[in-house]
Amino acid sequence: MSMSEKKSSEVAPPTGDMPAEEFRRFGHEIVDWIANYFERIEDLPVLAQVEPGELKAQLPASPPEKGEPMEAILADVDRLIVPALTHWSHPSFFAYFATSTSAPGIFGELLSAGFDVKSMLWRTSPASTELEEVVLDWLRQMMGLDAGFSGIIYDTASVSSMHAIAAAREGVEMRIREEGMSGRADLPLLRVYASEQAHSSIDKGIITLGLGQRALRKIPTDSEFRMNAKALAEAIEEDKRNGALPFCVVATVGTTSTSSVDPVPAIVRICEQHAMWLHVDAAYAGPAAIVPEMRHILAGCDRADSLVLNPHKWLFTPFDLSVLYCRQMDLLRRAFSLVPEYLRTPEQDQVRSGSDYGVQLGRRFRALKLWMIIRYFGHEGLAERIREHCRLAKLFASWVAESPDWEIMAPVPFALVCFRACPKAGETEEVKAKRLDALNEAIMHGVNATGEAFLSHTKLNDKIALRLSIGNIRTTERHIQRVWELLNEQLGRLTRTQN
Ligand code: PLP
Repeated sequence: MSMSEKKSSEVAPPTGDMPAEEFRRFGHEIVDWIANYFERIEDLPVLAQVEPGELKAQLPASPPEKGEPMEAILADVDRLIVPALTHWSHPSFFAYFATSTSAPGIFGELLSAGFDVKSMLWRTSPASTELEEVVLDWLRQMMGLDAGFSGIIYDTASVSSMHAIAAAREGVEMRIREEGMSGRADLPLLRVYASEQAHSSIDKGIITLGLGQRALRKIPTDSEFRMNAKALAEAIEEDKRNGALPFCVVATVGTTSTSSVDPVPAIVRICEQHAMWLHVDAAYAGPAAIVPEMRHILAGCDRADSLVLNPHKWLFTPFDLSVLYCRQMDLLRRAFSLVPEYLRTPEQDQVRSGSDYGVQLGRRFRALKLWMIIRYFGHEGLAERIREHCRLAKLFASWVAESPDWEIMAPVPFALVCFRACPKAGETEEVKAKRLDALNEAIMHGVNATGEAFLSHTKLNDKIALRLSIGNIRTTERHIQRVWELLNEQLGRLTRTQN
């Protein structure tokens, strides 16, 4: 896999950038390298097999005084960087939410790095601003979302959700933008509600906005890890009786642990009744709505105020690209727009400027990669890939369900399977629980140590569950079969040792 066989003693010229000829040569070489990387990725261990500090120990503590030849730098990518990578593009990466880049997405990133625009104002990159509006409208149509939603791109869902909650807070009309929240006797406790299964980014958004962790009330979930809408209604009523101001609910479509879907139609009714903002965190599962027969997963979301989905999770888009759809862009703008004299432009009232809608001033040209992905694969091609991932997950789940030694721990609405080993043994429930937790952790570490596959875990009803997430564009049935073999090998090895 080594780059740059050809010798060159060229280093950076005294001024200016790399000469065009060199750039062309190394550029071709790097694209070849990436193509080889994808072809040979299955020979590499999915999970980096390095110890903490191992890479740092091999890197010089101080920067080079003089420029170095590109050959030397690229050789160190092979020698030092690759061994310290966990290969997210490996088709047997099943941990967390498996995601993957794609060729058109990589080209989009490359071009965007070449253009290096900072699309803060319309005039600093009309292409970025206008392409973003168009491509997000395409995506909205692909998902069957209402035309009342406008989209904006941020880096991550954590940031998208934080901005949504900021817009919701702006909507309470309590001059928080102007006067802040500290030292104010006139402010009630502002409450946000999310289920116990909501992602920690909601907690972090609330912390960042200065609402304080006590502002977030966690609502219990049912036996399938979905928010209990009745408990939500009761919590809001109770808070109101106690003088708090409930202003926002975050529902999740595709929770992190199990990919469960909160009952949005019931939740939206409660929000409408109390004039509260509904934000939907569809970071993971949102892209599945582009599959026509899966559109129902967004039932009720048309009446939400905002919704986040991450093309960098399940739309083959290189990290990072998160989309926030919002019905009330004016509130988002009111929360964040601030135009100092040096950014004033004659066209500002006729155009959209990304920096008006968030904390960041400069913004990357992220829309380019999504535009290239949607054009290259087409709506049908993207839907087919997501459909296939869901099929593979259901297939794997059927093997688990049919085996006497394993059990399914949560429903499988998308491409995530939560399961555990549960070989029989006569013992009390408590002893069994401890034994199975230890056994499943050991199985997971055993599989991960092989380097052939990488799984992660969660806790469901206090029990360790293994998570197999399928989202990589290269994953096929062969990979699912192999991880099933690896899991059973580990189970056999560990139960033999125990007996
Ligand atoms: N919301 C959900 C449901 C998630 O599963 C995740 C991450 O897995 C996030 C939000 C945070 O995503 P990001 O890394 O884009 O901030």
